[in-house]
Amino acid sequence: MDDALARLKNGTLKLYALEAELPPEEAVRVRREYIEGESGADLGALGTFSIGIDRVVKRNIENMIGAVQVPVGVAGPLQINGEYASGTYWLPLATTEGALVASANRGASAITKAGGADVRVLADAMTRAPVFAARDIVHAKGVADWAGAHLADLAVAAEKTTSRGKLLSVTPYVVGTNVFLRCAYDTKDAMGMNMATIATAEIADLVEAETGARLVALSGNMDVDKKPAAMNLIEGRGKTVVAGVHLSDELIQTVLKTDAKTLAAVNYRKNLVGSARAGALGFNAHAANIIAALYLACGQDAAHVVEGSSAITTVEETEGGAYVAVTLPAVQVGTVGGGTGIDTQGACLTLLGVRGGGEPEGTHAKAFAEIVSAGVLAGELSLLGALAANHLARAHKQLGRG
Ligand code: NAP
Repeated sequence: MDDALARLKNGTLKLYALEAELPPEEAVRVRREYIEGESGADLGALGTFSIGIDRVVKRNIENMIGAVQVPVGVAGPLQINGEYASGTYWLPLATTEGALVASANRGASAITKAGGADVRVLADAMTRAPVFAARDIVHAKGVADWAGAHLADLAVAAEKTTSRGKLLSVTPYVVGTNVFLRCAYDTKDAMGMNMATIATAEIADLVEAETGARLVALSGNMDVDKKPAAMNLIEGRGKTVVAGVHLSDELIQTVLKTDAKTLAAVNYRKNLVGSARAGALGFNAHAANIIAALYLACGQDAAHVVEGSSAITTVEETEGGAYVAVTLPAVQVGTVGGGTGIDTQGACLTLLGVRGGGEPEGTHAKAFAEIVSAGVLAGELSLLGALAANHLARAHKQLGRG
């Protein structure tokens, strides 16, 4: 038996300390074998993977025992006409949900045949919102006023911690004696949560020193990170992106097997009325499906699917067709940092032409956000089309019987 394995068993070596003694691959193997012994589960399948893990065990995961493999399929070619992403793309989608890639593929086909999806980034601001305790409501108002009047000082403090991040705004919210400062940053090609958090810690120190308010938590949940929230739907968080496409009647007929009127009706009754009645924050058919698959493939923080799913799909009948659009208020993506440097995830970003920092900085992350929006549009078109086609088929059948 390995010496390290024996020491894990007799309690003289901590599970998390293996990498301090062994090369990463070895540490992972020993830890897996230890867990197999403790649990009785055969974990051998987790031990075969292609990613280099030297950096992974330092930056991306603790107590690593192996890797799960998620199959990756491609949807495309998808023509995108953006300010940052322009051309024909193959979208890497990591999923175990059969039919998802096929669905995105059909939507991509409709978009590409229509000449492409127009995509635009409307806003770009990653947020962190610490909460401070004030003595009373008069003090709370004073803290909020002080922050409002000292944006330049707060920016100097925040930007000491990063060579690229820029503080864009600080918006105060007061609830009784609680003061929330929603700090928004341009984080360039980084998704930016670490960057924003580290910078906001400096802001918090300054606010405490200058106002006497006491920092309670560096995130006071008004960011709003990884929770469904109207705040993000209205104000946006990360990238706010919109994608739209003109579809002709002929294209709707040949690719989606329906017509513009039925497509618009299904969207209205399902995505708009149904979501409103449910009190949903997402007014879409399945934006989360495409976002989850793209985020997993491309090394994004998977929990941000929560915010990404707050998308609104609109369909308008036009002269000779329909205009279909998706608006995504909160797309948090990066092409540096986080999981983007892992070999397989990096390869998927390479496929999209956005791996690493952009030139100028920030353009890769914006391009990626535009690609995400076009992918979501493809998914929406396909599912709405399928529902509308069934609806149409049923209507024909009923009419035929009548
Ligand atoms: P990060 O891994 O901290 O990467 C950002 C770093 O990349 C910065 O140090 C930045 O340097 C550098 N960088 C190099 N080229 C850049 C470019 N072109 N544009 C922007 N930055 C560039 O990543 P992050 O995006 O800030 O945070 C992502 C990670 O945060 C994910 O792993 C996520 O899971 C995690 N996360 C953290 C929290 C939290 O509260 N800490 C919450 C949610 C998620 P400079 O700063 O010097 O510019």
